[in-house]
Amino acid sequence: MTPFTYTALPTRVVFGMGTIHELPAELARLGCRRALVVSTPEQQTLAGRVASLLGPSCIGTFTGAAMHTPVEVTAAALQHVRAHSADSVVSAGGGSAIGLSKAIALRTGLPQVAVPATYAGSEATPILGETDGGRKTTQRTAEVLPEVVVYDVDLTLTLPAALTATSGLNAIAHAVEALYAEDTNPVASLLAEQAIAVMAPALRTIAGNPFDRAARSDALYGAWACGTCLGLVGMSLHHKLCHVLGGSFGLPHAPTHAVVLPYVVAYNAASAPDAMRRVARALGTQDAANGLFALRQALNAPASLREVGMQAADLDQAADLAVANPYWNPAPVTRDGMRALLEAAFHGRTLLQRTN
Ligand code: NAD
Repeated sequence: MTPFTYTALPTRVVFGMGTIHELPAELARLGCRRALVVSTPEQQTLAGRVASLLGPSCIGTFTGAAMHTPVEVTAAALQHVRAHSADSVVSAGGGSAIGLSKAIALRTGLPQVAVPATYAGSEATPILGETDGGRKTTQRTAEVLPEVVVYDVDLTLTLPAALTATSGLNAIAHAVEALYAEDTNPVASLLAEQAIAVMAPALRTIAGNPFDRAARSDALYGAWACGTCLGLVGMSLHHKLCHVLGGSFGLPHAPTHAVVLPYVVAYNAASAPDAMRRVARALGTQDAANGLFALRQALNAPASLREVGMQAADLDQAADLAVANPYWNPAPVTRDGMRALLEAAFHGRTLLQRTN
């Protein structure tokens, strides 16, 4: 066994079907009676449902959450927190709602209950990314980790096919990078391999039948495991590139992850053979990158950066940004390597296998 360090994260997890009904009891367990429910505008109905389930323990809803947690949205939500003396935050929806809840917790110390409805995994991490004046910064602090996560499989039945596919691949990206993380540990590696093995077939089943509750259950369990990996270890090139593409060029979060993942895995393959064996084993394929490429195709997820809104004229700047303050990565991150990777991903070309 190679030496490692491991810090367990103290979130309480309630997983199942219909678990949303346990929210009042979970809030009471925290000793809270004045929750603010936050969501994106598209999830107003869900926020309203959560608010009515909480009844007198809810002081209202704030439905202005947005991608990448803009600080001005947080400031508006904080006005509600203060005006109504909220004593807790309940987030309902995807990573955007959960990000807002974390930003509020960072500034107030209020406890959080997260009710995830996508597979992004933010609920399981002590990480917060925020944007201020178009600049995105990310921090890792235990203060933003939700106290409780209530996973209700039923909420994910409405996740549209396209978002299910890209959000699922976003989750798998956390597990893949956990397997070759610089600070990897046995818990993260075990979870990561199992998460990919559960998530990939579940996503294929859901693509054919979005209302398959067993597959939805597996996918949400996989999302919890993938998110836990993201919370436990550092991420590498894939997350760096997606951070650059989302933060500086406004590309959509989950679809960008879906496009980029097989390219980064091909780039890193020769430098992380053990991780690649585990990814391939979990996918039931010979080769990790080709297996992820095939999964993405089977899910009909976007195949090129061009499809998700990238401009060819921005590729040079994206390559420059990719090598500025790089994250640790198993393979050397070179300007030429990034430019070639981005070019291939832009056109959705065949994978490039880097050789050492
Ligand atoms: P999102 O939260 O923006 O949701 C995407 C869209 O799907 C929204 O319009 C939302 O209202 C809708 N939606 C959510 N659940 C739905 C459901 N069940 N049915 C129908 N529609 C639904 O997107 P996301 O991909 O979940 O999260 C992305 C954001 O989360 C980014 O800002 C990203 O940086 C952040 N994130 C943070 C972490 C972290 O650890 N800090 C991890 C992953 C993602």
